[in-house]
Amino acid sequence: GYHRLVKENRDLYNTVQDLKGNIRVYCRIRPSLNGKSNNVIDFIGEDGSLVISDPLKTQKDGRKVFQFNRVFGPTASQADVFEETQPLIRSVMDGYNVCIFAYGQTGSGKTHTMSGPSTGSSRDVGINYLALNDLFQISTQRKEILKYDIYVQMVEIYNEQVRDLLSEEAATKYPFPSEIRSCNESGLNLPDATLRPVKSTTDVLSLMKHGEVNRAVSSTALNNRSSRSHSILTVHVYGKDKSGSTIRSCLHLVDLAGSERVDKSEVIGERLREAQYINKSLACLGDVITALAQKNSHIPFRNSKLTLLLQDSLGGHAKTLMFAHVSPEEDSFGETISTLKFAQRASTVELGAARVNKQSSEVMQLKGEIEKLKKQLAGKE
Ligand code: ADP
Ligand code: MG
Repeated sequence: GYHRLVKENRDLYNTVQDLKGNIRVYCRIRPSLNGKSNNVIDFIGEDGSLVISDPLKTQKDGRKVFQFNRVFGPTASQADVFEETQPLIRSVMDGYNVCIFAYGQTGSGKTHTMSGPSTGSSRDVGINYLALNDLFQISTQRKEILKYDIYVQMVEIYNEQVRDLLSEEAATKYPFPSEIRSCNESGLNLPDATLRPVKSTTDVLSLMKHGEVNRAVSSTALNNRSSRSHSILTVHVYGKDKSGSTIRSCLHLVDLAGSERVDKSEVIGERLREAQYINKSLACLGDVITALAQKNSHIPFRNSKLTLLLQDSLGGHAKTLMFAHVSPEEDSFGETISTLKFAQRASTVELGAARVNKQSSEVMQLKGEIEKLKKQLAGKE
């Protein structure tokens, strides 16, 4: 009883901290590779500030200041990053929809953050694995109170087409198209895409491998496409308590296509088409997140497959986290600036100002409940 109260008190407090509909932006700077010089990063603040400077000093001092919820420098570990992401992930088990995006140019570390190192080493696993591992742990911890069923889907969006990466069919059936449409019964908005039950991280790892193989097979037909498609791992959580009431929520883990601008004069044909689709869908994502951050009444979800697919998990009751990945090398400076600008635009954190903290009536209500719990706790002591 006592411990549960303490825990509930803490959970409630976290809920107040983690306002629904809030959009968080974290920046992650990968270590420089191949011993290249790294003179771009000037300062990383504990408070989420970041100062970078133009290596060519084209402007007077060439320094630019950004403000995010958090900045992870080159020495931050996967565990450091996960620690700051865990509360958000855990809230999925309480019925919240959560979306986590990895944004940035190709080579900036998106896949490293989400899946782990490119060597496929089982050390340094990424958020996808750690998240599921955590969800299974919570499921076990709560088994006396709640029974959870966890399923995953894995798709990619390439040239505005959704493809089912967990399909059993041989890759000869390529391109496994799936249509986005809401199914009220199942709550799924990709009801045709393969849905697999998972009970352990081992299940998840083997499914992810299957998905990667499907992705790789379809890639060979059109060169390595992995940086030119969005990959989405969706975890569906169904919980049922003893009274029979249920919760349903999902966690989208999105490794976005590379955000680099391609020089239109240099690419033609298929490559140009890909680039145009990527630009369009990333721009749409930016528009949606900005509209949500500004609490606009119209949110342009329908402008791309990506935002349409994630619609139920963005804004409203959902929680969104974007990792803006940057490469620290001087020759990436242009892309780094454009990534940071995109991320800043999506962020609810204002430059040079403390975090905007609107107190909604809901927060006040939760604060009231915390007070009540505190009193109850005091009574038990
Ligand atoms: P992206 O998915 O954005 O194209 P990757 O995740 O593939 O980029 O990263 C590019 C390379 O840099 C890979 O070899 C990856 O293992 C390495 N890398 C990325 N981020 C880190 C990091 N934080 N620590 C160590 N190596 C990293
Ligand atoms: Mg990648």
